[in-house]
Amino acid sequence: MLEPMQHGMSVYCSCGRIMDLDRQEMEFKICLGKELECSRCRNMRIGREIELLNALFSGLVDEDGCVTAEMV
Ligand SMILES: [Zn+2]
Repeated sequence: MLEPMQHGMSVYCSCGRIMDLDRQEMEFKICLGKELECSRCRNMRIGREIELLNALFSGLVDEDGCVTAEMV
């Protein structure tokens, strides 16, 4: 069942952008211990994680994230 629309909340991301978050969404993220980040920061973070994964698969880093080869 859908609850009636609640007021959204404006939260500042660490980069200074204002996010309009649903109150439930915000509480959910806080509950999960996730940082509140805007879509741009999230995309950048995901991009970095993909880069790390690619490096892992290429054998450039080991499982601890230590660089085993020169990354140029
Ligand atoms: Zn941000």
